[in-house]
Amino acid sequence: MADFLYIDVDAFLASIEQSINRSLVGRPVMVGGLKNERGIVYCPSYEARARGVRMGTSLFEAAKLIPDGVFLKGDSFTYDRYSQRLMNILRDHTPRVDQISPDEACLEITGLERQFSDWNTLAQKIKTKVRTELYLSTSVGVASSRVVAKIASEIVKPDNLTIVPPGEEKDFLAPLPVEKIPGIGRVNKRLLNEMGIKTIGDLQTIPEEYLTTLFGRNGHKFAAYAIGRDGPLIRDFSAVRSVNRETGLANDLTDRSLLLGHFYYLLERACRRLRQIQKKAARLTIKFQYCDFERIEGRATIKPASWDEKILYRQIKHMFDTLHRRRRGIRFVGVALSNLKSSLYSQSLILDQTEKNERLLEGIDKIRGKFGFLAVGTGRTMAMNDLYRHKVTGYELRTPGLSK
Ligand SMILES: [Mg+2]
Repeated sequence: MADFLYIDVDAFLASIEQSINRSLVGRPVMVGGLKNERGIVYCPSYEARARGVRMGTSLFEAAKLIPDGVFLKGDSFTYDRYSQRLMNILRDHTPRVDQISPDEACLEITGLERQFSDWNTLAQKIKTKVRTELYLSTSVGVASSRVVAKIASEIVKPDNLTIVPPGEEKDFLAPLPVEKIPGIGRVNKRLLNEMGIKTIGDLQTIPEEYLTTLFGRNGHKFAAYAIGRDGPLIRDFSAVRSVNRETGLANDLTDRSLLLGHFYYLLERACRRLRQIQKKAARLTIKFQYCDFERIEGRATIKPASWDEKILYRQIKHMFDTLHRRRRGIRFVGVALSNLKSSLYSQSLILDQTEKNERLLEGIDKIRGKFGFLAVGTGRTMAMNDLYRHKVTGYELRTPGLSK
């Protein structure tokens, strides 16, 4: 029997801002953009949540709800640093840390009880360490499966610790609403509710064959989750060997930041694909071609393997600056991610869109639907803004497949 501890920082980005600037503590902080800009709130503090702003609320709506709120653009470099410090604290307790997102991880803690007398002591120790070193509060769940640990961490927020003793998984889950199951979002919830299935307990009584009729292969997973077991891994992307994104340029470019902007844009899209197929890349290749057709290629080994564009971009920048030695214009750029490693641990949990992701994507899609793909962007691709016609699907690059 294995044991897992799932930890999630409460209102990660907003809490970091409050941790850095103590005068923001207790105030409604919203990270995502400035007041009345296009775009969405990526992370509202609990004070802002109490006043009706959620992850994915548009900045317009948020400004209406909280006119005196603190609106911040956010700083991904700082957030990365906090994320790394958090993961380092977790790795001090066990090497078996499976990072799910910048502020979430699932730790396999089997056998550690001998060192910490019980799960409560271990969990409190980790929570205290994160609070005193990073000024961040966390929600933690401990259970005999990843899925129950995750659900337990979400039971009360913020600053939660819920331990589900072995053997009590089914009873613990039974009274909870069915949408607590990872992968059951709005649509599936409505479907189930219409059939009178409101709680996970209701779901436990449904035969697995019936769930697979309804949800296809996901049915197996929901049936396993409902009784507190980690579901089977159902998608097989083992055949994918590399992910490439490249494009020719409409005009030869010489400007460094503009070229790096293109690399970032391609990388972002390649990483999104990696996360979809649950792989991390251990090798990164960049390619570019000068206007006289000289082709340059650079390779780097990524250790540990990653699907995070912010980590990989640092390497790209370094490689590009080393390789780009001529003053000639550049006509073609490309990024390839290869030597792919399966990220087995988190596989099932990440593929299941949690409510959080769903809400965020919904907000992004809403804004993009209204104002176009580029209304939600990152600073690094900003330089591309003046160069391309903005289409609803993204920048109008030369390679048509890339606008996807
Ligand atoms: Mg969080």
